[in-house]
Amino acid sequence: MGSTDGSAKREHRRFGRTCTACGTSRLKSQLVRFVRTADGGVAIDPSGKAPGRGAYLCADAACFAAARKRNKLAAALRISISADEYDALERDFNDRCVSHTDAR
Ligand SMILES: [Zn+2]
Repeated sequence: MGSTDGSAKREHRRFGRTCTACGTSRLKSQLVRFVRTADGGVAIDPSGKAPGRGAYLCADAACFAAARKRNKLAAALRISISADEYDALERDFNDRCVSHTDAR
């Protein structure tokens, strides 16, 4: 829809969060938050408000892939994430991120 050029630049740092995979800081709305669950697992936190340790990734499949490859998500959350868990997360992540850009 709209493009955001110009005025957003200065607020970038103060309100931004950093993507765990690529290190880009973005507005929270452009990132997907992952949160550590009570049982030591990980879940996507669509509200961005769930309690617990969180980590952010760009809403971009490439960043998820990079985070998975280097196991950065697990490191950021200080847990271990199995291949099965990554598979489930990836599916969930793609559902959320791709749905509004690729509506065929
Ligand atoms: Zn990123």
